[in-house]
Amino acid sequence: MRNGYLGRRALVTAIGLAAALPALAADLPTAMPDDNLNAVLWDQTSVEAKANALGAYALAHYRLDEALADKSWTAAPAEQTGAFQDLPPAIILDVDDTVLNTSPYQAWNVINSTSFTPDSWNKYVNAERDVAIPGAVEFTQYAASKGVKVFYVTNRTADEEKPTVEEMKRFGFPMGDNVDTFLSAKEQPDWGSAKGTRRAFIAKNYRILLMFGDNLGDFTDDYKGTVEERDKVFEADAAHFGHDWIAIANPTYGSFESAPYHSDYKLSPEQQRQMKHDALKPWDGK
Ligand SMILES: [Mg+2]
Repeated sequence: MRNGYLGRRALVTAIGLAAALPALAADLPTAMPDDNLNAVLWDQTSVEAKANALGAYALAHYRLDEALADKSWTAAPAEQTGAFQDLPPAIILDVDDTVLNTSPYQAWNVINSTSFTPDSWNKYVNAERDVAIPGAVEFTQYAASKGVKVFYVTNRTADEEKPTVEEMKRFGFPMGDNVDTFLSAKEQPDWGSAKGTRRAFIAKNYRILLMFGDNLGDFTDDYKGTVEERDKVFEADAAHFGHDWIAIANPTYGSFESAPYHSDYKLSPEQQRQMKHDALKPWDGK
């Protein structure tokens, strides 16, 4: 009798355990560690990211009005040579993570433990899954309503132009009407990933009022240095930021990330991570 009771209890426990096993398995964490998790989470889900972008584009409205009223104002001192005071006004915006949020691609990489490749990126661009950065559509429409030509200088390639322009039109970004305002990388032989030649191309015919970007290279070609060298560039150009250069926060990728390992993409991910660790300036713990 006793044995029978125990036997039944054991059987009931075994059945209970078996029933619980799938639930236990489902509860086991499966997320792989990824150096970009928090950055992408912030960029894609946080109210703070949206609030930062809205603030930047709200400031831009005021700066645009100031720049329009001051004919000596230019945002591109390196490229705006000659008499520019009476040229028609223009602004220049980067595309990725300045007007279009690409976090679905970054999130896809985190989930799949992968990183950027031209092939997966091109497939993503063609899927047209970006989200407009908060404030960007309203601001660019405001600029266009003031007679300001809105240029996009992007390192998306010429074959990625069609889906990108389609997507931007759908969001309501002004796309230049009869002027080609979408300047992609390599569209002309001297248009490399550094954007200075494209800024100079625009500056020949327009007074550049404001520039927008999520990367130092959206404002100056001196973006490829070490952490210390980039800090010097920032110090020299600090007066531009919040004035005629408007930066959008992007912690998910960019020249900030590659600076600690000197953009040496031949290094292993572990070596790159070590050099990023070494670039931190920690509290001494005392
Ligand atoms: Mg960008």
